[in-house]
Amino acid sequence: MKRYDKRGRRCAALAGAVVAALAVGGCDAGGDTGARSSAAPVQPTATGGTTAAARAAEATLWRKWGLTPLPSAPQPPADKPVKLSASGPVPVLTHIPTPQRVVFITIDDGQEKDPRFVEMMRDLKVPFTMFLTNDAIKSDYGYFKQLQALGNHVQNHTLHHPQMNAVPQARQKEEVCGNQKILTREYGTSPLLFRPPYGAYNTGTKTAVAECGPKAIVWWRESMQIHNMTYQDPGKKLRPGDIILAHFRGPSELKGATMTQMFADLLKHIQEQGFAVARLEDYIQPPTEH
Ligand SMILES: [Zn+2]
Repeated sequence: MKRYDKRGRRCAALAGAVVAALAVGGCDAGGDTGARSSAAPVQPTATGGTTAAARAAEATLWRKWGLTPLPSAPQPPADKPVKLSASGPVPVLTHIPTPQRVVFITIDDGQEKDPRFVEMMRDLKVPFTMFLTNDAIKSDYGYFKQLQALGNHVQNHTLHHPQMNAVPQARQKEEVCGNQKILTREYGTSPLLFRPPYGAYNTGTKTAVAECGPKAIVWWRESMQIHNMTYQDPGKKLRPGDIILAHFRGPSELKGATMTQMFADLLKHIQEQGFAVARLEDYIQPPTEH
């Protein structure tokens, strides 16, 4: 907890300098004045395809961020590959078992609240899942509501970001239940998934998760750094159904790179390997209510 608070203060102290740098340097081409395009969603035609005009409009929006459109994600399977149960052991997901050529993006913590990232997501409509920590988001819950409004889900990543397997059981429960309560209040829906900070958990974590509401622990197979990705696969390749970890980070944590630059690089890595990005929650069936 101390470690996290210290980091938070450091970021806050740097925030002024970062704002000044952005104002002077205009870190992304085009600045952020008047660039708020109301992106027309690509309209499916009667045959299920898209019109050439819609594709051209989509390409224009991607070009604005130095990108070309990713392949469209296939329809998620009606029979979900992961089915969660209301009780019983809490599963740990590192990937989704699917033959589809899709990967899933998850973004953690919430320290960086870059308005340009919201603009980018409005333009690109890439789905992702947010694992939020209350300490990082409490200064501005509204920022993440904008991303939620685009269809992205908010999930649980503790109150204070401790290493869960190093704290007592009671504290673990407080971290999961406390954040669950706040996220439910702020975002109007109770998180289904939990990610432990640093990926560290033990049986006590699973007990806490089961007692507090989430039905699965979500791990990852790739981790996005500043420009490159770290792979668990020795072949350094994405595999169908992989879950990718990224963070809400800004220039102070990315050696001067912005959140949108990091995310553009992430999309390029996915594109190079011929994958589409799908929504994690579309592949997971929550427990049926009784
Ligand atoms: Zn974290």
